[in-house]
Amino acid sequence: MNKWTYLFEEGNASMRDILGGKGANLAEMTLLGLPIPHGFTITTEACMDYFAYNNKIREEIIEQTLVSLKKIEEKQGKIFGDDENPLLVSVRSGARASMPGMMDTILNLGLNDKSVKGLAKRTNNIRFAYDSYRRFIQMFSDVVMGLEKTKFEEVLSKIKKEKGLKYDSELTETDLKFVVSQYKRFYHENLGVEFPQDPKEQLFLAIEAVFKSWNNKRAIFYRRMNDIPNDWGTAVNIQSMVFGNMGETSGTGVAFTRNPANGKNELYGEYLINAQGEDVVAGIRTPSPISKLEEDLPECYAEFKRIAKVLENHYHDMQDMEFTIENGKLFFLQTRNGKRTATAALEIACDMFDEGMITKEEALLRIEAKTLDQLLHPKFDDKALKNAEVIGQGLPASPGAACGKVYFTARAAKIAKKKKEKVVLVRVETSPEDIEGMHIAEGTLTAHGGMTSHAAVVARGMGTTCVSGCNECQIDEVNKVMYLGGKTIHEGDYISLDGNTGKIYYGKVETTPAVIAGNFGRVMSWANEVKRLKVKTNADTVADATMAKKFGAEGIGLCRSEHMFFKEDKIFALRRMILARNDEERAEPLKELLRFQKNDFKGLFEVMGEHSVTIRLIDPPLHEFLPKDGFDKIAEAMGRDVKEVIEHCESLHEFNPMIGNRGCRLCVTYPDIARMQTRAIMEAAIEVKEQTNYNIIPQIMIPLVDDLTELKFVKGICIDEINKVFAEQETEIPYEIGTMIETPRAAILSDEIATEAEFFSFGTNDLTQMTFGLSRDDAPRVLEAYYKNNIYESDPFAKLDQKGVGKLIEMSVKLGHKTRPNIETGVCGEHGGEPSSIEFVNSIGVDYVSCSPYRVPIAILSAAQAEIKRKKMQ
Ligand code: ADP
Ligand code: MG
Ligand code: MG
Repeated sequence: MNKWTYLFEEGNASMRDILGGKGANLAEMTLLGLPIPHGFTITTEACMDYFAYNNKIREEIIEQTLVSLKKIEEKQGKIFGDDENPLLVSVRSGARASMPGMMDTILNLGLNDKSVKGLAKRTNNIRFAYDSYRRFIQMFSDVVMGLEKTKFEEVLSKIKKEKGLKYDSELTETDLKFVVSQYKRFYHENLGVEFPQDPKEQLFLAIEAVFKSWNNKRAIFYRRMNDIPNDWGTAVNIQSMVFGNMGETSGTGVAFTRNPANGKNELYGEYLINAQGEDVVAGIRTPSPISKLEEDLPECYAEFKRIAKVLENHYHDMQDMEFTIENGKLFFLQTRNGKRTATAALEIACDMFDEGMITKEEALLRIEAKTLDQLLHPKFDDKALKNAEVIGQGLPASPGAACGKVYFTARAAKIAKKKKEKVVLVRVETSPEDIEGMHIAEGTLTAHGGMTSHAAVVARGMGTTCVSGCNECQIDEVNKVMYLGGKTIHEGDYISLDGNTGKIYYGKVETTPAVIAGNFGRVMSWANEVKRLKVKTNADTVADATMAKKFGAEGIGLCRSEHMFFKEDKIFALRRMILARNDEERAEPLKELLRFQKNDFKGLFEVMGEHSVTIRLIDPPLHEFLPKDGFDKIAEAMGRDVKEVIEHCESLHEFNPMIGNRGCRLCVTYPDIARMQTRAIMEAAIEVKEQTNYNIIPQIMIPLVDDLTELKFVKGICIDEINKVFAEQETEIPYEIGTMIETPRAAILSDEIATEAEFFSFGTNDLTQMTFGLSRDDAPRVLEAYYKNNIYESDPFAKLDQKGVGKLIEMSVKLGHKTRPNIETGVCGEHGGEPSSIEFVNSIGVDYVSCSPYRVPIAILSAAQAEIKRKKMQ
């Protein structure tokens, strides 16, 4: 027989998987001998069994629940459902990971028309008994039966208004009796049945509601955002009630052992006297700061402080605790590792290390890598934000704070920027043509597109703020106006975007620049000592490279050479080159491009010094470079007919550009581009080396390779050009030519490819796209439906698909090493800065990850954490 229920004294903190976080910690606190009301946990397995068993609670589970309940009755000396001396319980959900999307808690379960009288009599407190009953009816109706909470609140506020009362706690026993009768009437009217009087029926309906809540929309959404698997299930905790609503020596509260906003070592929290459950957070009355408890109930305060320390010392981490005081006696109802800002996380980790509570490794594990992002972008001033007016909500696509004047096209944005204006680019959705506009903008707002839309990915890459998918935002590009949250916003009006929350504010909200405090540097240096993976950056400009280096990047793992073309004069030359009809027409623009690129590359070599710089030859589909307007200008420059130029562009149309003429295929169809880029790289490297004496070894990277012969061909072009440069300059420098592994074929044939490739870089964006056969740009709509139907749990473009794509990478690394034992391998692309992906690639022996500058500190910390965990597992 399976064991489906555990008394608190039967469990411990390590049993999180089956008891859930709340249950495991209640058990652990019980073991520590802390004042915890008796109770038991129905396992997460029972929840999954409920779904597997056709949404029914198995008889065995019902039996074990009743047996456990009996034991609680004995311990408490009360009887569940008894008229005279009723045991009341709370029913609390609790998954392995804390999940705010889950079901709300039900308190005071077990009350009915008879036992409420018994309770009143035993406690000699009629008011309290009916206050508990009305709370129970409301919670049960809302949480279990889905009746709207607001309706109950209306009843309550009507009575308060009639009697001129401000707070619930001022209601008399007569009032509360009346409220109860009104609630029951409302229940009957809406559901056609009486409020259930049988406590067992109440209990199992509540348990079932908790199970079901695992699959409610909120919960599914939350799981996806936080990478929580669908098959974990939630546990249910049944716990004997303690009452904070018994009068002036009772109360309830929440507190942290340290300040979760700034990390200071001080108790931080709030409580309410004569209140129950969520009253504190619900804002019914203004709670008092925890320090005031010292005046109200000094003994409780001393005891609370003592136990808080016990818990923190026990868990070696900052605790977030919930407590209730019943007639002067303190009970703990929950503890967990507290959520905190990045600033607080760093402060707490450093302090606890200095206090000797934790080791360096533990300190590193205490910090959630993702949150470091908060420290790297300018922030809104807290005070300014409080007074700001929210006009809309989109997806928090790329963090940061942006405040500027609205412009609806990249062109208009650029013109404004030239006049030194701060700009927010607002688009229905963005395309590659908007990149430059996004780059100069403080932030980008789009009406369409998800977290992996073009705008979102590009913005994250550039480290600029982006709020995407604000569907209610109506944009009229023709009249240069947008409508949102009842406001009409014209071109040139100010709005502000919070990329951390997705909120859109009306007008200007002041920002403050990012400050990298002392703790940050300290933690980064610890991480660098511990990690095995190198962390490089994806950077195409001197500004990005400089910033990345400041953040700790150990080289450039990916320079997307074509990004340098996106500036106006450069793209013009590139377009003329693509549209050239012969060598003669091609020579001029090529010369121009060479000059541009050489300069750009020189800048990168200079910034990176001895660190490696890997430059990828031109990669994206050709159509991204073709003009969509302004044909006349090009025609004029080339001395061609406008119509002919338009036709030429049309003839280059591709049906599936993403799997069309791109990557190294462009080097085969337009070898001159490869020659020009190779020359630019080598000339730049030679010049910088001569000027600086840095030991520069340029790495030329050939993208989207499928085949050894193909690689040989393109490499041949490069080497031929390199030899020409060497001959002209009468000097030689070392260099490396490698490839990107971006197609499944290349991964499978990695042993062959490694005969020519001196390094592998896994372009996991494309490799994911090609492996799934799902285009990155079209994925959001598909994924939305897939999440809804529980087919996929997370976005494989954001979080590496370890099972499929990961298997290919692992295989490729092995095959590559077979041919070339010291081949360097790395991961570039979005996954290179994503903690769980980093953990995976660390485990399969990849040498480095490369990510956008703003993700470098995240990657460094993640790499350290990955290595600490890997060593622990050994
Ligand atoms: P959440 O996960 O939303 O925090 P909890 O299960 O922790 O929900 O319950 C919310 C609050 O309800 C607790 O903080 C506590 O104040 C109150 N509560 C839960 N169980 C009990 C109980 N057995 N006795 C008294 N209060 C309780
Ligand atoms: Mg809680
Ligand atoms: Mg690619």
